[in-house]
Amino acid sequence: MPRQSWKAWYKLARWQALRLRIFLRDRYTCQRKACGRVEPNTSQLVCDHVIPHRGDERLFWDETNLQTLCKACHNRDKQREEQTSLHTRGVWD
Ligand SMILES: [Zn+2]
Repeated sequence: MPRQSWKAWYKLARWQALRLRIFLRDRYTCQRKACGRVEPNTSQLVCDHVIPHRGDERLFWDETNLQTLCKACHNRDKQREEQTSLHTRGVWD
């Protein structure tokens, strides 16, 4: 399997269905405790991996590893992760 082919998983109907199921499970509520925003517009929600999957198929599809975040919280997390990955890049990339 070519590396980073997991990016295509986000385009699968299976992922689209899973992400909607997670939003429903979390009642369209951002799971960041300090936030707790309710966002009925799913285009403003992100289905986030609690443990970064990094191409691990099991983690990617694991519902217990998924949480609903609003876009603002997700972007904040992502910035933090990118800083972290500067140190870990090369291990899995
Ligand atoms: Zn939020």
